[in-house]
Amino acid sequence: MSEAETTAAATSATTTVPETTTEAPTETEAETTTEPVTEPEPVDYEALKVNEQGHIMVVMYHGILDNPPYHRLKEDFIKDMTFMYEHGYRLISVDDYMTGQIDIEAGMTPILFTFDDGLASTFSLIETDGGYEVNPETAIGLLESFAADHPDFGTEASLYIHANDDNFRDVGTPADRLNWLIEHGYELGNHSNTHANFKKLGRDSLIKEIGAVEVYVDSVLPGYKLTALTYPFGARPDSELLSVLNGGSYQGFEFDYRVAFREGPSAQFYPPNHKKFNYLNAPRVRGSEGDIQDLLWFLDYYEENPSQKYISDGDPNTVVVPVGKEDNLREGISDNFEMITY
Ligand SMILES: [Zn+2]
Repeated sequence: MSEAETTAAATSATTTVPETTTEAPTETEAETTTEPVTEPEPVDYEALKVNEQGHIMVVMYHGILDNPPYHRLKEDFIKDMTFMYEHGYRLISVDDYMTGQIDIEAGMTPILFTFDDGLASTFSLIETDGGYEVNPETAIGLLESFAADHPDFGTEASLYIHANDDNFRDVGTPADRLNWLIEHGYELGNHSNTHANFKKLGRDSLIKEIGAVEVYVDSVLPGYKLTALTYPFGARPDSELLSVLNGGSYQGFEFDYRVAFREGPSAQFYPPNHKKFNYLNAPRVRGSEGDIQDLLWFLDYYEENPSQKYISDGDPNTVVVPVGKEDNLREGISDNFEMITY
């Protein structure tokens, strides 16, 4: 009965106002008011507490499985994204992170998602009539679905794989799977040939572990260059072998890693523009909860210590920091960015 009433009310409302007289003037008004170019409102750095040398968290996830602390349940992964979204976190890529070209809204805090091990529950395809689409129950499927409802959250993520066809199996060919990721804006990285413990490797073995993935990825995605790596088990090579990451070569592939992430939990998420950032020992937080320095612990920590967070001014071409914090920036930042203190 109430349905009938509302329908009747709606009908009478639309019929009392002739369509032609309402539509025509609004269109003309809209045209004239949108034409002039309006200057964007200046960003109030003080009010937003802009701080572009503050911490940026890099989250280490694996699959969507009931096996904490390395894997995450579906509902917990959605819970993570919801909390992040509601507390001003926005996804960025490893490329944005390393170049500092962080293009998120003023007042927001960048965050990175990384997924290790090339698991089918991280990403896999399902067959459709015309081809393939992402399996909605995988981490990337859940991220795509969350971002469809919250487009400004973003869908950036990087996935770290091995040198074999098992990455993200079984549906589709390896090329179908890796191409889907690249075409949808995701990044691929190196997680070693055999999930080796780099601490235990000599120079030749280390070169092969890294190089085999470069050879493999190029065979599937010709020309795709790997520039990010996650250490299996978080184990870094001996210090005298670290130079392999930027000087080693294997079967004609020259290594040029801009960043290598350790395993979480680790502390002090200095961003790449900070003096104390170590690009071959970049920290990550374990995408889990319950332990000190897991993801949920850090999310609470930054709610209580907001002055430590990176907070964007909304302009990727500037670096805006409170007076006194500019001393934390590494040299050369002003070559590429306009420096602003307030
Ligand atoms: Zn791993």
